[in-house]
Amino acid sequence: MGYPHPSHPKETPVLSKHFGDPEARTFDGWVKHGGYEALRKAVGMTREAIIEEVKASGLRGRGGAGFPTGLKWSFMPKEAVKPHYLVCNADESEPGTFKDREIMRWTPHALIEGCAIGAYAIGAERCYIYIRGEFTEPWRVMSNAVDEAVARGALGANVFGSGKRVEMILHRGAGAYICGEETAMMNSIEGKRGNPRIKPPFPAVAGLFGMPTTINNVETLAAVPHILNRGAEWYKGLCLGNPKSTGTKLVSVCGHVQRPGNYEVVMGTPVREILYDMCGGPLPGRTFKAVIPGGSSVPIMTIEEAEAALFDYEGIVAQGSMLGSAGMIVMDDTTDMVYQIWRLAKFYAHESCAQCTQCREGTAWTTRIFERILSGKGKQEDFQLLLELSENMTGKTICVLSDSCAAPVVSGIQKFRSEFEAYIAGAREPAMAAV
Ligand code: SF4
Repeated sequence: MGYPHPSHPKETPVLSKHFGDPEARTFDGWVKHGGYEALRKAVGMTREAIIEEVKASGLRGRGGAGFPTGLKWSFMPKEAVKPHYLVCNADESEPGTFKDREIMRWTPHALIEGCAIGAYAIGAERCYIYIRGEFTEPWRVMSNAVDEAVARGALGANVFGSGKRVEMILHRGAGAYICGEETAMMNSIEGKRGNPRIKPPFPAVAGLFGMPTTINNVETLAAVPHILNRGAEWYKGLCLGNPKSTGTKLVSVCGHVQRPGNYEVVMGTPVREILYDMCGGPLPGRTFKAVIPGGSSVPIMTIEEAEAALFDYEGIVAQGSMLGSAGMIVMDDTTDMVYQIWRLAKFYAHESCAQCTQCREGTAWTTRIFERILSGKGKQEDFQLLLELSENMTGKTICVLSDSCAAPVVSGIQKFRSEFEAYIAGAREPAMAAV
């Protein structure tokens, strides 16, 4: 939750400052905290000026890819010959990630304001917020907030009397992980099966309903009003590591720490500080073993790699993984790594949309080989088989779900091979019955 950062005590927290405050959920409460000032300002600016300000801030996509937000907005066609759409990705199905739901639960108007500014900047008169179906409370809070924003003139045909139109539609998902992938999400909104689409064409050319579309994550859009209010230079100054990673970041920490939860950190904060100072370190009598830093779809880090890393896009890459969604899954010395990687592979096998052979067959085979090893029937050749399968699942499919399954498998074998060997050699009790 809100956590003043030692290096920026007066500046942080930003996004989570009003988490836990019921008043901030209401339109009037949000206005009392300076809400909707940025939208009022934005509708008096040119679209280009907004995009330039966001570009200058260095804001990058918080959903996983880390693509520069202002640059993404600039890809949208300038002429308004066709309708344009903004889609806010509020699906947040990545394992270990639970930050966007808190933004929606506690500061719904921050997201609405960010969406309205984003929509105006890209020339869209309609914004869809695609919200995960299981998010009952965030959905209810967001629905009330959208109604309030319409009633108070922040949304609709004439935003704050500016003559600019921004409509907002909340679209509930139905529980498919793959619908968090941007092109699958657009298919889902169109009423089709949520299958990812082959790119190109990219969404900025032909996206939702075949029209130019930008897709941004909840946390990304919620940061935009702060940037317009306080300026790009202020946002850029929130940086403790690589200057390409700016601003604050919500990190969801789960697993074997004393205080799991959401923490807001300045980009470049040492991971060590997150694990020990914020989260209280390991449980009594235990030691940390591994961390998956970006949801479950990125390579596993050993605790030594994690403790040496800075928490930003480049800092995590330098230690062999990726920032992803910044959902940090922490595992201690009681963790059976083989079993945990099997759980992840099984998840991806279940969630594969099955369009690509490498993914459909690869995730299922991977799961079954892990089950063979865990049941005490593994063979030495299984290492090679798993690595070859992972190689064929990486960079060869329509979307990256297949790569996401391969990443923890390959890094798990590389870094925790002895745990696999123990099952294969019969030195460890089988964790499951033979399949
Ligand atoms: Fe579907 Fe998997 Fe192919 Fe993605 S990689 S499109 S989830 S089959």
